[in-house]
Amino acid sequence: MGKIILENISKTYNDEHYAVKDISLTIEDGEFIIFVGPSGCGKSTTLRMIAGLESISEGKLYIDDQEMSKASPKDRDLSMVFQDFALYPNMTVYKNLQYPLKMHKVDKDEADQTIHRVASLLGLDSLLDRKPSQLSGGQKQRVALGRAIVRQPKAFLMDEPLSNLDAKLRVDMRYEISQLHQTLDTTVVYVTHDQTEAMTMGDRIVVMNHGNIQQVGTPAEIYNRPQNLFVAEFIGTPKINIFNKELSNGQVDWSGQQHILVDAEDQEVLVGVRPENLKLRPGKSYTVKMIENLGSEQHIFLDGEDKQVVAQVAYDDDIQIGEQYELTIIKPERVNVFSAESQESINF
Ligand code: ADP
Repeated sequence: MGKIILENISKTYNDEHYAVKDISLTIEDGEFIIFVGPSGCGKSTTLRMIAGLESISEGKLYIDDQEMSKASPKDRDLSMVFQDFALYPNMTVYKNLQYPLKMHKVDKDEADQTIHRVASLLGLDSLLDRKPSQLSGGQKQRVALGRAIVRQPKAFLMDEPLSNLDAKLRVDMRYEISQLHQTLDTTVVYVTHDQTEAMTMGDRIVVMNHGNIQQVGTPAEIYNRPQNLFVAEFIGTPKINIFNKELSNGQVDWSGQQHILVDAEDQEVLVGVRPENLKLRPGKSYTVKMIENLGSEQHIFLDGEDKQVVAQVAYDDDIQIGEQYELTIIKPERVNVFSAESQESINF
């Protein structure tokens, strides 16, 4: 079992500003949950408070319904994987994997069997006699993962475990960690600043900013129905386009021909349109400034009167720099409308 409850948890360093402020969240047993947000938003602090590596200033932490707010790290029965791998340099891979089992006084033969099972799961069989300095970055990270999973803790806590790997290896390890979670079915709490990791790996995402939770939801909910402008702009590449518009009589006029229906009072609004929801049609309002051809799709950057916009179009659409277009919305019902004043969503 590995259910973790955070109840009104805050963290202050030196009684000064809040690194984490009043966050409450229930992480279900077996769930893969990802904390994502910009650097300094309080993700690691939250994870370290769950691990017991950082004290909790206010609030309570429960693991499987037992209060653990002040319990020592070893009594929480959690395993942590760090960004810098934190392997013991003088020990072989085998000894690195054996260490947590020794600490928990597991019988030597049983430990040996476990080490071989985990090594085989992670493709480390042929590396057991090597020292960390003889391993590539990806192999080191696999050993770090192996060390976390040799025991069966209540949950795995991972702090940016892939950020020291190159881009290709990150994609491979993303897949491996997801597979591992499916195999082991153990709760994973994962911290990253990388929205792609968040979108591709998590059952649910917790978006944080300035020590606060902005939104908790599945990747689809976070992407399609961001609760505020921050979440809308943080998730999605290229970034969502934001247009200043007026809401009046239940609709926002997009182009004279197109309208977005919003059931809210008349006010100034920010209309968010994802790049894939924009279509280019002949016109004069926007000029193509740059084209990124990714092979599978193209990102078209256009300049308007006072605004830059990006549209995502098919790989074979024939669009050239310098051409002029109007922008049409493909699916008005997918547009996100925010109050210009509060920046909170008013249409979902
Ligand atoms: P993230 O993981 O999202 O990058 P952190 O949780 O590391 O953010 O940090 C959150 C805030 O707490 C930041 O403003 C950071 O400067 C501050 N902070 C983190 N650790 C300490 C510390 N040991 N002493 C003082 N302030 C800290």
